[in-house]
Amino acid sequence: MSHYAPDAKWHEMAAGGIIPQAGNAVEYVVGGWRNERPVKDNECCIDCLFCWVYCPDNAIEIEGRSVKNSGIDLEHCKGCGICAKVCPKDCIKMVNEIEARAE
Ligand code: SF4
Ligand code: SF4
Repeated sequence: MSHYAPDAKWHEMAAGGIIPQAGNAVEYVVGGWRNERPVKDNECCIDCLFCWVYCPDNAIEIEGRSVKNSGIDLEHCKGCGICAKVCPKDCIKMVNEIEARAE
């Protein structure tokens, strides 16, 4: 059983809250934590890849060497806003999650 299963008891978790298995982020759907979601304007994107490099959750999707026409993996995006902050062309906007879901 994973040490961080949603129903794990405190005594089933690893001592000190460490994550003993590296590279396991893909197993965890963290999109439900998000208050804001990134929306990318592919038309203005210059494919500099800054958003892809800096995203801490590897949620910027890439096709070949391009993110221009790819999406954002909202199951793994936590809504931190780093991608929007680093985009030199201001192509990524953070929008309210509840409003985005309602649309
Ligand atoms: S908001 Fe954060 S987690 Fe989501 S795609 Fe942008 S950098 Fe990645
Ligand atoms: S940082 Fe902005 S311009 Fe660069 S690849 Fe991402 S969306 Fe495109």
